[in-house]
Amino acid sequence: MSLLDSAIVRLLPAVPKPVVQLFSARYIAGETLADAVAVVRDLNTGGKMATVDVLGEEITREEETRAIAQAYRDVFAAIDEAALDSNVSVKLTALGLGLSYELCRENLLDVVRTAAGYGNSVRIDMEDSSTTDDTLRLYRELREEGHDNIGVVLQARLRRTLDDIAALAELRPSVRLCKGIYLERGAIAFTEFEAVRASYLRCLDALFDASCYVGVATHDEWLIGESLGRISQRGLGPLEYELQMLLGVREERRDELVAAGHRLRVYVPYGEQWYAYSVRRLQENPAMAGMIARATVGRILRLGR
Ligand SMILES: Cc1cc2nc3c(=O)[nH]c(=O)nc-3n(C[C@H](O)[C@H](O)[C@H](O)COP(=O)(O)OP(=O)(O)OC[C@H]3O[C@@H](n4cnc5c(N)ncnc54)[C@H](O)[C@@H]3O)c2cc1C
Repeated sequence: MSLLDSAIVRLLPAVPKPVVQLFSARYIAGETLADAVAVVRDLNTGGKMATVDVLGEEITREEETRAIAQAYRDVFAAIDEAALDSNVSVKLTALGLGLSYELCRENLLDVVRTAAGYGNSVRIDMEDSSTTDDTLRLYRELREEGHDNIGVVLQARLRRTLDDIAALAELRPSVRLCKGIYLERGAIAFTEFEAVRASYLRCLDALFDASCYVGVATHDEWLIGESLGRISQRGLGPLEYELQMLLGVREERRDELVAAGHRLRVYVPYGEQWYAYSVRRLQENPAMAGMIARATVGRILRLGR
């Protein structure tokens, strides 16, 4: 990333919300459930599966966590009614992890039971490293209670992940493997680009060795190639893994992969709390940040006239 790009990225939180909205529209289905349903229907028509994320990242009160759990109940009803091919992804902080473990557990159980009622499943997103232990603990508790319709996410960026895979292996977890979006300190995370890639492949091998179902979640072309090579070497059939991408990213490549016979799931976030999610996505993409900077300057100049 150039110095200018990193400066822009640092300044993003100061960019006016309407400008962020303009550039982040491609990453978000919209503010309402109807918006999400429309996007998922479109993806399904194009041969892709989906996972719906209700955005609710800046939660501070118990009622808000209950509202998110209710929103997920509504999502399952809508998926069922429209016969869509989609599961959901949940963030434990949105379900109250920052308030209390028990509250979060209750809300998660509620979502998982609702999913089971519809024959559907829930993937627990992984957030920053302060939440990893609780997330894996909760996942394990629910699995040990017999809830099999849940999956988890592991981050190749974290040095601990291979150990986490070894510890979870007996449960044969369904795992989405990603690089990890949260920039963690070097003591606990790989910080070099190539080291994260290498860790990704070590984790992928370990997951396949443990016969886990893996959602290969990356847009990194080199990693996609290496992952598909491993899938083919192991003779995995199309139902034994899936590829995953974020809404709005590498859409042409998505189509090629589906045309080549791979199952691919798109992460579809929606909700009123789109802002924090958008800033994170834009911070990942310096080219987009540069466009925002130009748009912001243009807007300020216009205001000054
Ligand atoms: C389905 C899915 C779910 C995820 N869930 C989690 C999670 O639960 N926890 C977590 O920490 N992280 C999650 N992530 C994010 C992930 O950890 C990475 O931060 C993100 O995917 C970028 O890494 P990459 O592997 O795509 O490689 P990168 O090297 O970052 O990207 C490769 C290329 O993809 C393109 N690209 C990547 N991101 C963007 C973008 N925002 N806009 C435009 N182009 C882009 C660019 O061309 C880039 O060069 C998820 C990612 C996906 C795909």
